[in-house]
Amino acid sequence: MPTTLITNIASLVTNDPSQGDGSPIGLLTDAAVVLDGENVAWVGPAAKAPAADTTYDAENRAVIPGFVDSHSHLVFAGDRTQEFNARMSGRSYSAGGIRTTVAATRAASDEELEANVVRYLAEALRQGTTTFETKSGYGLTTEHEARALRIASAHTDEVTYLGAHIVSPDYAEDPAAYVELVTGEMLDACAPHARWIDVFCEKGAFDGDQARAILTAGKAKGLHPRIHANQLSYGPGVQLAVELDAASADHCTHLTDADVDALAQGDTVATLLPGAEFSTRAEWPDARRLLDAGATVALSTDCNPGSSFTSSVPFCIALAVRDMGMTPDEAIWSATAGGAAALRRDDVGRIAVGARADLALLDAPSHVHLAYRPGVPLVTRVWRRGEPVA
Ligand SMILES: [Zn+2]
Repeated sequence: MPTTLITNIASLVTNDPSQGDGSPIGLLTDAAVVLDGENVAWVGPAAKAPAADTTYDAENRAVIPGFVDSHSHLVFAGDRTQEFNARMSGRSYSAGGIRTTVAATRAASDEELEANVVRYLAEALRQGTTTFETKSGYGLTTEHEARALRIASAHTDEVTYLGAHIVSPDYAEDPAAYVELVTGEMLDACAPHARWIDVFCEKGAFDGDQARAILTAGKAKGLHPRIHANQLSYGPGVQLAVELDAASADHCTHLTDADVDALAQGDTVATLLPGAEFSTRAEWPDARRLLDAGATVALSTDCNPGSSFTSSVPFCIALAVRDMGMTPDEAIWSATAGGAAALRRDDVGRIAVGARADLALLDAPSHVHLAYRPGVPLVTRVWRRGEPVA
C-alpha cells in the first residue's frame, strides 16, 4: 500500500488524550500524520515524521478527524419549502408534515430515491462528513421501508430501520395493528438491510410501551436500538434508551434530572441535533447540563426535509458553541468521537494509529474556526479511507 505523509499541520485534533495537550481532543501542534492505505500509520510532531511515498503539505492549517454524522434521514423524495416558509413567516400551515414526505417517497422511483441519497451524501462529504448513519421512515409499508434500507445500505454501513417514525396514515384508526406490522412482517423484511432499529418515542408518535415493544422485537432480530427521545416534550424515551442499552438517545431536548442521571450513568450517548431546534425555532437542548453531569454527547445534523434540512456538521458545531453551552473543543469532539460512540465505533472519529484514515483539512489554523467563522465553508480537503475524495 502506498503511504502518504500529511505534514505542516498547524493543529491536529486527534481525539487521543495520550497525544499533545492531554485533553480529550489530544491537540497536537506542528504535527504530521502518515496514512498507509485505508488506515493511519503514524501521528506525531512534524519534525519527527517518517518518510512516505508521497507528501501533502497542509500549509500550516488545521486537520481534524472526518465528522461522524450519526443521525440523518436521507432516503426521501419531495420538498417542504412551503412548510418551512410558513413556519418562519408566522403563518399556520396545515399540510401533513412527515406524511407529506411519506406520500412523495412512496411515489418516487428507486432511481430518484437513490439519486437523492447520493446527492446529500456527496454534499455532506464535501463538508467533512466521512461516516454517516441514515434511516428509513418515509415508506411505512413493508415494501417501501425495505426498499429505503436497501438503497441506503448500498451507500453506508450505518443503516437504521425506522418503520416506527410515525403511525402510518393507513393505520390511523388502529395504531396497535401498525406496531404489530412494524414488529412482525416489516421487521422481517427490513432486518437483513439494517444494523440499527429506531423509534420516534413522542406524544403523537409512539408511547413508551410501544417503543419498548418495537425495540425489543428489533433486538431479537439482531438489530441494535437507538431512539428519538425527549425531543418535543418530557417522556420515557431517554430512560428506555438506557434501560435497553441503546447506543444513542437522540434529541434530548426536554430532560428531567433523572433523565440526565440515567444518561450519565449508562452507556447510551446523548445525541444533540441543533439543526432541528434551529429550523423549528424551538428551545435548544442543554449540552452544558449533560456534559457537567458526565454524559457522553454527540452532535449530528438530523438531516431531513422537514425539521432540519442541513447536511452541515460545521453549522451544528457553531450552534452548539453559540447556543448550547459547548466549548469549541467539546463540540469538535462530539461531532467526531462522540458520533463514533453513538454508533459504537472506535475505528472512526479519531486520528490514531490503526484508525481509519478519515480526515478533513480546514482552511484555517485551528478547529476553533468552525464556530468562530460560522457559515464559512472551511473544509477544503477530505480523505476517506486514505483517499482524497473532496
Ligand atoms: Zn431524526
